[in-house]
Amino acid sequence: MLTRLLKFLDASPVNFFAVKALAAQLESAGYHRLDPRQPLGAVAAGDKFYVTKNDSSIYAFEIGRKTLADAGFHIICAHCDSPTFRIKPNAEMTCEGGIVKLNTEVYGGPIMATWFDRPLTLAGRVIVRGEDALSPVTRLIHVRRPLLQISNLAIHFNREVNDGVKLSKQKDMLPILGIITNELERGNLLMNIILEELGKEQPVSREDILDFDLYLADATPACTFGVHDEFLSSGRLDDLSMCYAGLEALLASPASDVTKVLAIFDNEETGSQTKQGAGSPFLATILQRIALAQSGTVEAFYQAVERAFMVSADNAHAWHPNYSDKYDPTNHPVLGGGPVIKFNAAQKYASDAASAAVFAELCREAGVPCQRFVNHSDVAGGSTLGNILASSLPLRGVDMGNPILAMHSCRETGAVADHLYCVRAFTRFYQ
Ligand code: ZN
Repeated sequence: MLTRLLKFLDASPVNFFAVKALAAQLESAGYHRLDPRQPLGAVAAGDKFYVTKNDSSIYAFEIGRKTLADAGFHIICAHCDSPTFRIKPNAEMTCEGGIVKLNTEVYGGPIMATWFDRPLTLAGRVIVRGEDALSPVTRLIHVRRPLLQISNLAIHFNREVNDGVKLSKQKDMLPILGIITNELERGNLLMNIILEELGKEQPVSREDILDFDLYLADATPACTFGVHDEFLSSGRLDDLSMCYAGLEALLASPASDVTKVLAIFDNEETGSQTKQGAGSPFLATILQRIALAQSGTVEAFYQAVERAFMVSADNAHAWHPNYSDKYDPTNHPVLGGGPVIKFNAAQKYASDAASAAVFAELCREAGVPCQRFVNHSDVAGGSTLGNILASSLPLRGVDMGNPILAMHSCRETGAVADHLYCVRAFTRFYQ
């Protein structure tokens, strides 16, 4: 199970690849792809299908033995985007000695210093000319070798570097890509890489490349570490580790009366307000269409929403042994201590006593320990999916997630045991 998680993390340098990897696993488990432009048709108990939006969010459904109106649905949601750097248009900047660096723009809230001095690569989608202007073709690329690096300034030029440094997103965060060896390469290095990568599957001519959404990604594979290999080290644990725990549980859980839903959203790191984010009505419309197909009335959908339960799964902050003063004195979850239910008096999290009790009971039934997180009262903390989704689907549910260290670092730290615990708790939930 751990090997599968590591493989998924490495196969998912950015959102598009996470969706591709999840779709491939769903298909091999018998799920078929739904085209939302076509009528949904009849929906029967046991049907398994999935649908994607923008190639960067994915929603899987296993229809329960009872209708949505009679039994509701159990939904696990997570997000597949992570903080990174987006390559800007006209990105190449040729400097002294023919060194080429790329102009980037920050995506989400990365700990920027963690992106220095490590091998990086490029991943994302390239848009290629199609039959007409409204039908371009999407091709994914993931350069599977170290390709770029954002290098630090030597300490001799910045003696105060270890006292804390203010970083400029525009000046400091531009990776070097290469040194041009002839004039033909000037201004073309990035495009040459794109053409080379696309050409490995199916060659494309340069004129047919219309645009791209490309991002930086850590080029070092995910791994375990620690005396007992008890820790996980990887980019994008937030929130790919929760996406994958959801998938494992969906595929492992037996058929149920209740319809199972796994919703993996994009753009959580930038506020979720996109057509593929948790703020979109897209998921609600698919659920309405299922309810209509089953019962012929939209009333069935409203009944389903009232019967449903949501687990909004997004990683939590683990207690950091070097910074205990940052944590709440009585609620600071630890690595390896099991899934974490998140609470916030200002309701940034969906959990309340009633919904948390449900999740804690599920953990108990699954034989899994469960922890609780509340912010240190002088620390603002973050937000997540649950309450944003509630604007289109007012579901009863919890915000939870596995504890990690260094959230939004290029390389986060988690615990192997927590992944196994979480899959067990989620599997129980889907049952
Ligand atoms: Zn997250």
